[in-house]
Amino acid sequence: MAEPQQVGELIPEDVDTDDCMTSYTHIYSPDLLKDQVAFITGGGSGIGLRIAEVFMRHGCDTVIASRNLDKLKEAANKLSAVSGRRCLPLCIDVRQPETIAAAMEDTLKEFGRIDILINNAAGNFLCPATSLSFNAFKTVMEIDTMGTFNTSKMVYEKWFKDHGGNIVNISATLGYRGQALQVHAGSAKAANDAMTKHLAVEWGPSGVRVNTIAPGPISGTEGFRRLGGPKGEAAGAFRSIPLQRAGNKTEMAHGVLFLASRASSYVTGAILVADGGAWLTSHNDVSMLLGFWSAEQRHK
Ligand code: NAP
Repeated sequence: MAEPQQVGELIPEDVDTDDCMTSYTHIYSPDLLKDQVAFITGGGSGIGLRIAEVFMRHGCDTVIASRNLDKLKEAANKLSAVSGRRCLPLCIDVRQPETIAAAMEDTLKEFGRIDILINNAAGNFLCPATSLSFNAFKTVMEIDTMGTFNTSKMVYEKWFKDHGGNIVNISATLGYRGQALQVHAGSAKAANDAMTKHLAVEWGPSGVRVNTIAPGPISGTEGFRRLGGPKGEAAGAFRSIPLQRAGNKTEMAHGVLFLASRASSYVTGAILVADGGAWLTSHNDVSMLLGFWSAEQRHK
């Protein structure tokens, strides 16, 4: 097997922790999102935090919204310090529409507009269907799917209906081949992919574009750590991926930036798979993943 390609200069900067990048090279014009406002669910960690950072480095102000306000406040301070833009941390639970409504009001009070919604909040864990409780399945559907609907509908009614806007959902490729131990997340994201198209059709005439990015394995995230990513990477597990490596959070943020900005002005109802080709070739071996899951359970 060929060595992984050493194309470091083509891979954008990232850091594995929930910190901001120490350096950043613009690919797009630095004022691509100048003076726009983005509302990012789950923006206090992982991919959502990097989306917030990259947006802010392109002139955008942001709202980062999830359940843990302390984490959000810490993230907002870091994000503003590195970008010089404003970041408002707000407490919401995407399962509770009234918390989203209150956050929208605070956003409009603070910034006077919302241009972009990123539906990134999600629950993530591995579990075989036989061990998954009814409640666990329901919870993932409520956060990932109902949460995406609740937030999209609230932003549409409160602002996008009259002003237009851009929605980008963060999906996954899990449902494409029925990834083992992921019936909950795979089903929820498949529903969201359908929702992307339904809402693109209904809201297009109001000037609202609705698109999705579907990441593969992304380093420096909770999902990646829970899937044994760092160990797998060291053991060469990513050699089966056409691009021979995991992706990074900045790469996902660049895809989202494309979909959320005027760079994609004629694109709606699209699902951009950003996984290095992983879903085409990666293992979907139930016994191997069950073995990994059982070992994890023993160490809990
Ligand atoms: P993460 O850091 O765990 O991000 C999930 C975020 O969602 C957290 O900030 C969490 O914040 C928030 N959240 C969870 N439940 C919520 C709720 N009920 N209401 C509001 N916010 C809630 O994980 P990530 O890996 O960066 O994942 C980000 C997105 O990428 C997810 O949609 C995930 O499915 C997708 N994805 C990730 C990968 C990967 O390799 N990491 C691959 C494919 C797709 P609080 O705890 O503060 O609520």
